[in-house]
Amino acid sequence: MHRWLSLWLFLLLPCLTAAAPPPVRVFVSVLPQRTFVERIGGDRVQVQVMVQPGASPHTYDPSPRQVAALAEADLYLAIGVNFEAAWMGRIRATNPGMTILDTAQGLRRRTLEAHDHGDEAEHQADQQRGHDAESHPDHQADPHIWTSPPMVKQMAARIRDALTDLDPAGGPTYAAGYATFAAELDALDAEIRARLADLPSRRFMVFHPAWGYFADAYGLTQVTIEHEGKEPGPKALAALIDQARREQVRVIFVQPQFSRKAAAQVAAAIGGRVEVMDPLAADYVANLRQVAQVLAEANRP
Ligand code: ZN
Repeated sequence: MHRWLSLWLFLLLPCLTAAAPPPVRVFVSVLPQRTFVERIGGDRVQVQVMVQPGASPHTYDPSPRQVAALAEADLYLAIGVNFEAAWMGRIRATNPGMTILDTAQGLRRRTLEAHDHGDEAEHQADQQRGHDAESHPDHQADPHIWTSPPMVKQMAARIRDALTDLDPAGGPTYAAGYATFAAELDALDAEIRARLADLPSRRFMVFHPAWGYFADAYGLTQVTIEHEGKEPGPKALAALIDQARREQVRVIFVQPQFSRKAAAQVAAAIGGRVEVMDPLAADYVANLRQVAQVLAEANRP
């Protein structure tokens, strides 16, 4: 009898191995996360991004089509951008069976730079007292956590674990995908560190403060033009131009999701130029490498 069984297994096995398992359906908030999940999950995942190109993750409203697609998803990987707080209740209600994981949970949040410059000392005092952003409602937690490669590496480990929990058979795939991606992030981190190590000027000016974790990781300081998401008034703009002159800023960075009007005004006043750095680019590693290169070129005499 066991000979028959062997025959059946012999006939069945090719069918079993040929049929690919249904992909794990994953929703993420921002585009770089899709890259993280695909690098780890390969063909075993199918990823949809909530915040559409050109939109801001601070104010995004999911479309009805996206809400319908959420009902079919297995996993939502949150990252702590502002629209999640407004929508997570509805997202959960749409698909109560879906696993929701905040990949940034427990990672040390920095506070967003305030725009009046007296805050620097206060911020340092807060850090010395060990205060979190959460305990300080007047200081908003900075959500742009993915601009730091070491933090992405920590989030990648959580993505690997969440995928393995949902799809244990894919465990070896996720472990291998994570290992490759983590090695690439380590190499990127070392490369950026080396490139920016001896820059004479360690400040850069941005319209929207999306690069704080990047700045912290590599010992740089970002100076923000916008005020609570809005263009600065004439007085604030004049102060920023003075500051840019004083600190010999040569390049003002903008991102495609926000206005570049004020940045262009500052750049014109100081005889500098405006460059685009997109924190939401899909090709994470290439984009950060490019950002480091532009920063290095901008801050050398
Ligand atoms: Zn932002």
